[in-house]
Amino acid sequence: MGALSSACHIVQMRLLVVEDESRMAQALRRGLTSDGFTVEVAGDGATGLELARHGDFDAVLLDVMLPRFSGYDVVRTLRAEQNWVPVLMVSAKNGEHDQADGLDCGADDYLTKPVSYVVLVAHLRALLRRAPAARPSVLAAGDVRLDPATREVTVADDPVALTPREFGLLEYLLRRPGRVVTKIEILDHVWDSPAEASPNVVEVYVGYLRRKLGRQLVETVRGAGYRLAP
Ligand code: CA
Repeated sequence: MGALSSACHIVQMRLLVVEDESRMAQALRRGLTSDGFTVEVAGDGATGLELARHGDFDAVLLDVMLPRFSGYDVVRTLRAEQNWVPVLMVSAKNGEHDQADGLDCGADDYLTKPVSYVVLVAHLRALLRRAPAARPSVLAAGDVRLDPATREVTVADDPVALTPREFGLLEYLLRRPGRVVTKIEILDHVWDSPAEASPNVVEVYVGYLRRKLGRQLVETVRGAGYRLAP
């Protein structure tokens, strides 16, 4: 894993891992995180679908045999909704037929378990390289710019250093222009362990962003949450 990590420090990719075997899921989370990816894990198809719809992922690593929706159902639904997030399917099934099924229903690539971690990461990287259109372009509000690919933030073209959490919060808000987002939504999407964090911590971080980026950037909508200033 070590040799693979260097290339990833510049561009942090967000991955969704949909895998119901928790040991496998945790091993993938550990490996991919140490290789520089940001990883979210879903343990069943329905949760995976919901996260894939709203999580702004660069790629999805999708098991086929899952409780609730299967991997096929997940990718078919995403494509029907015009969601083109790159999907790498991984399955214990190994017939040619299954592989064709996976690709037919909209997966971009397909691997059969057992698959070595190194091969898996190589396929993921190839998938991410092939899918430049899926890479988000620069997000902006007023004179604030955020580039998800380079993780650079500028105000009136001057670079601003944000902590990873501040960056995550800003990116979340920028991807929802004009929408009021609640503290709970922010916690769920920006914090790794939302259950352990208090909604008040969101206030603290909104304060940090205002201090670094301008007081008027984020509006407080009383009793509801926050919204980027128009
Ligand atoms: Ca499974």
